[in-house]
Amino acid sequence: MPTEAATLMRMQAARRIARPTAWKLALLAGFVTQLMLIVFVTAIGLQQLEVTTRNLQQVVDVHMRKQNYIKRMVVAARERTVILLILPQIRDPFERDAMLMKFNEQGADFVAARLALLGMPLSDTEAALISRQGQVTGAAQPVQLRVIDLINADFIDEATNLVLNQAIPMQNEVMSTLSQLEAETQAISTAASEKARKEHAAARFWMYLLSGAALLVGLLVAAVVFYFAARISREREQLVSLDTLTGLPNRMLFMDRLNQSLIRAKRYNTQIGLMFIDLDRFKRVNDTLGHASGDQLIREVARRLRDTVRADDIVARLGGDEFVVAISDVVTLSSILQVVEKMLATVTVPYQLDGREIFCSCSIGISIYPHDGTSASNLLKNADTAMYHAKNSGRNRFQLYDAAMNAMAEERLQLETELHYALERNEFVFHYQPQLNLKTGRIHAVEALIRWQHPKKGLLSPANFLDMLDETGDIVSVGRTLLLVACRQTAIWHAAGFTDLGVAVNVSGKEFWHSGLIDSIRNALTQSGLPPSALQIELTEGIFMDDVEAAEGKVQALKALGISVAVDDFGTGYSSLAHLKRFPLDVLKIDRYFVKDVHHAPASEALVSSILALCRGLNLGIVAEGIENREQLESLRKLGCQVVQGYFISRPVPADAIHALLGKNWLQALGPAEHVQPNRTAI
Ligand code: C2E
Ligand code: MG
Ligand code: MG
Repeated sequence: MPTEAATLMRMQAARRIARPTAWKLALLAGFVTQLMLIVFVTAIGLQQLEVTTRNLQQVVDVHMRKQNYIKRMVVAARERTVILLILPQIRDPFERDAMLMKFNEQGADFVAARLALLGMPLSDTEAALISRQGQVTGAAQPVQLRVIDLINADFIDEATNLVLNQAIPMQNEVMSTLSQLEAETQAISTAASEKARKEHAAARFWMYLLSGAALLVGLLVAAVVFYFAARISREREQLVSLDTLTGLPNRMLFMDRLNQSLIRAKRYNTQIGLMFIDLDRFKRVNDTLGHASGDQLIREVARRLRDTVRADDIVARLGGDEFVVAISDVVTLSSILQVVEKMLATVTVPYQLDGREIFCSCSIGISIYPHDGTSASNLLKNADTAMYHAKNSGRNRFQLYDAAMNAMAEERLQLETELHYALERNEFVFHYQPQLNLKTGRIHAVEALIRWQHPKKGLLSPANFLDMLDETGDIVSVGRTLLLVACRQTAIWHAAGFTDLGVAVNVSGKEFWHSGLIDSIRNALTQSGLPPSALQIELTEGIFMDDVEAAEGKVQALKALGISVAVDDFGTGYSSLAHLKRFPLDVLKIDRYFVKDVHHAPASEALVSSILALCRGLNLGIVAEGIENREQLESLRKLGCQVVQGYFISRPVPADAIHALLGKNWLQALGPAEHVQPNRTAI
């Protein structure tokens, strides 16, 4: 996937997460609907339940009261029938009066119950039955009165006859009407309770239905929440597994994908090619052009690498200027190498950064599954080791992993450990390389160059350990200690009579930016007694570009100590004289890259010539580095370069070998000086 597309995808994903989107609204709507349904179901359910309960209560209440009244009427009628039957048999007038009183009481109770019944809600049938009972009772009343009269007149037989033949049958009819009424009331109440039961069932049905619907909506909402939560977590995961600068997978995602590729390769018996890519001298771009340009370069490299491989190959950024590419389903080694060649070619196509044309190359280490390892971490480690070898063999190349490299990597690790203790074991020394003034024929200064007197490996040059010292930060304490050594040594030469001799000490970026630099220089000068004018600090041009403002302040502070400042390896970085103009510099050291061809390449000659002219204009001293033969020396002399340094004059030598060089007659040794232009002396 091209970088832009990946970045776009990430931005979209981030936007989706950050903004309230349609799905969030849908989710909210789902929740609200569910809530409303639940509230609705509860309200309807409660209301229905209340109605049916009330109905049922009413039915029960009315029924009970009606039944009660009818029962009272039945009891009264039955009592009156019994009294009618026994009344003719009673001889005692008092007892008869009591009985008659009871008969009347029962009659009153009957009438009261009947009236109460008539006040109740009645069906037509009930009303008809009550009315019929009223008629029968009405017809029975005169007969009963006649019976009472006959008894009072002591016509017992006639009274008994009237009771048996008329009054009792009439009472029976009243009783029969009442029992019909009772049955009817019962039937009505059964129907009413049946109706209430049905209403209850209907309410229950609606409650079940709405609860079911609420449950369904709830499930739906839960499913939607689950789906989106999973999607968001996937997108978040992807966001954290992509490199923010390039949009490529980062190390974590790369390892994950590589592991999946390894599973497939194992199953189908195929090979995987793993390329570890590191940009050459990227730090220099970062240091001289700034981090924004460095980032731009990284993005462009990422895009180019992505474009050289197939869509299903993995391209990732491990961090800094390190990339990694995994090519699956590889059949032959040559197919991997084809891709690697393509990568080397595409990375070296010039870049346009802020209107400047920048050249960049890379070193590639290759490991192949299953030959060089079977696990992702092992393959990556071995590709890294191979890359390291590609770097050491000159950069802008690739290197296939070889098992012997591991031994070398281990050796490097061992060296790193030993390096850490080298300072306290006094294993660092300075060798000094003279700088010759061609006009005076005298060595006017020496450059102090660090060496490591390794107990087993012998004398090691900075190429073997300086980077490690810098990475660990030990360079600061080593530099501080050796600075004092160089100052003391130069003070000794001064005491021996070479009072004009200067010493140049290299200071790396880490040392330069360290807050203790000014103090340690002041201390070294005080402790050694060396005049500040005899000390020169060499800084590479990258340091000036790192943070121009701060660097300017620091250089001013160095100058305030009375020492001089030189720009080392000029021309190898991306700075220009125009940039350096603002710094109060004293000397510019032309890198040996330009000196190398000065005697036979007109372009190099023109370049050195223009640098010399510019330095004269800026009143800067010049030292040409890396003079290896007489031709180079002569060319530089002709161009007007006054101070030279290089193997042709002398290699860097231990301090005690310098004495002899200082006393040497250089004009005689090198032949007569031809037409040397006046130039400011380096120190
Ligand atoms: P530099 O400061 O540019 O030093 C010059 C390097 O070029 C030295 O390498 C020197 O031995 C080498 N050289 C001199 N003349 C010739 C020549 O004619 N031909 C060739 N091919 N090379 C020549 P050396 O000693 O290996 O140092 C390499 C770099 O390590 C130095 O480059 C300097 O940047 C750094 N360095 C050396 N000593 C120190 C130190 O004490 N502190 C710091 N921070 N850096 C140091
Ligand atoms: Mg130097
Ligand atoms: Mg140099």
